[in-house]
Amino acid sequence: MSASPPPSASAAEPDDTEVQRIAFAQCVATLRRTLLTTPLGWGLVVWVCWGQVSQPALLAWLGLALAGWVTGHVLLLRILRQGTDVKRHHLLLLAVAVIDGACWGAMAPLLMGANAILNASLAAILCGVSAVNAPVYITRIPVYFAQCGGLWLAVLTALLRVPTPALIDMAALGLALLLGLLCFYLHGIGARVVEGIRLQLANAALAAQLGEALAAMAEQAATDALTGMPNRRSLDQTLAAQLSMAEREGRPFAVLMLDLDHFKTVNDTHGHAVGDAVLRAFAQRVQAQLRRSDVCSRYGGEEFAVVLAGTSAALALDTAERLRLAVAGAPLVPGVAVTVSIGVASWRKGDDAAGLLARADAALYAAKRAGRDRVSAG
Ligand code: GH3
Ligand code: MG
Ligand code: MG
Repeated sequence: MSASPPPSASAAEPDDTEVQRIAFAQCVATLRRTLLTTPLGWGLVVWVCWGQVSQPALLAWLGLALAGWVTGHVLLLRILRQGTDVKRHHLLLLAVAVIDGACWGAMAPLLMGANAILNASLAAILCGVSAVNAPVYITRIPVYFAQCGGLWLAVLTALLRVPTPALIDMAALGLALLLGLLCFYLHGIGARVVEGIRLQLANAALAAQLGEALAAMAEQAATDALTGMPNRRSLDQTLAAQLSMAEREGRPFAVLMLDLDHFKTVNDTHGHAVGDAVLRAFAQRVQAQLRRSDVCSRYGGEEFAVVLAGTSAALALDTAERLRLAVAGAPLVPGVAVTVSIGVASWRKGDDAAGLLARADAALYAAKRAGRDRVSAG
């Protein structure tokens, strides 16, 4: 037994632009949520600095932070209003990140310096800010570098402006190492998160392909390949539905069994290919005579079954006669005239599908015995 080949991976391979767009949109949405919590960080800074830093310096930093925060919000809203587009908005997002980082970093020149404990506390807050922002930018790691760059460059500039004791040099070196390691590991995690988005898209595409394939298979399983009409399996389903409606609502219906007369002679005289063409033309001609609610199925060979929905016995006989005349009235393919015999069985209380088909079949053979090209009721 040979296994069927797996669906081609490339067909489900998501477009890289779409992956980047989703990663970008995720970053913008997370950044916006995180910016809303920024004032809590300001509160922490004010609490740590209270009584140790001059009020003008504290107010100057708060004013700067507020201005940066509002600018960041305005830029983010602009990105969101125009739809997150990586090519168009990458620089804007970078600007938001750098401004945010620089505003936090401005704590170094404006608030640090009073004493070692205050410096250490503010440095710890800045480390916290860097840590909080890592997951925000996880799907756009280069933007995280920009945020860290803005923050720590501001700190470094402040440190370089004062003669630094060896301890601060060590601390700055340690911090730089820590940040380097953080960025190195985050880069790997970020790549995996983006890969996760790619896999999700690929799965969704595969699921859609599978759904389409299943729908196509279901359609094929219910269709006769030669005539394109519903097949025997589909007829069973139509009959089951009509039977349950008839039993529930007493709505009548009828089954016509049609068999082409002397069809073997058609094959013998004109060849099998012409026989096939006649079967196709026959199915179309019958279909053209029916209402949308009636279903004509290929029962097998040159036999067809028609289910007439909501049809009384008298109307079923009329319809069968109309079908017979439509077939006999003109050749189905040029030069090949055929006739059809039809057996009619109308639903009676207590009928099941097999009983109904058997009655239609018996009526069909009665029509054959009576000379063909006629309708008989069972
Ligand atoms: P009757 O009037 O008694 O129905 O005679 P008949 O010749 O139509 O019946 P019979 O059962 O002797 O022959 C049916 C023929 O239908 C034989 C078979 O080759 C042909 N047939 C069945 N399916 C197909 C098909 O898919 N294509 C073609 N071309 N012929 C088919
Ligand atoms: Mg037959
Ligand atoms: Mg026949």
